[in-house]
Amino acid sequence: MTENASEVYYSTLDLFPQQTVEHNKLYKFFDNLRGGMLTTSQCEECGTVPWPPRTVCPSCFSDKLRWIELPSRGKVDVFTVQWAGHPPVLDTPLILAMVSLPGAPAIVARIVDTAPDEMEDGCEVELVVLPVERDRVTYAFRKVTQ
Ligand SMILES: [Zn+2]
Repeated sequence: MTENASEVYYSTLDLFPQQTVEHNKLYKFFDNLRGGMLTTSQCEECGTVPWPPRTVCPSCFSDKLRWIELPSRGKVDVFTVQWAGHPPVLDTPLILAMVSLPGAPAIVARIVDTAPDEMEDGCEVELVVLPVERDRVTYAFRKVTQ
């Protein structure tokens, strides 16, 4: 019996985490993302807002954290364009940027729907929620054009 190669799931090459309550303590992050919200945790003891979200505060080690929504628009501090050497599941060219969101930690994110020559430091970007195989999601940003 021949197996269809496109249906084989190569878990060792999978970049994306399992996102259900059974597999991931941060499943709420992915639930929120499915709803179009980028969120992270905030420590209820000391107020630290880490990125990525945590189950334990990296500053005071408290496990009392709550979910907060991050802004969906921000600015690119700096970016890089990668033409080769990245995992094949990611588009070529791969644009990675340090994105500053108002009142939140800067995050490294993919930039999609944007050509490299459209990118510039300081440009405004907005959140994009992308589907990933096996009913999962991931986040990226795209340049705001207006
Ligand atoms: Zn804390």
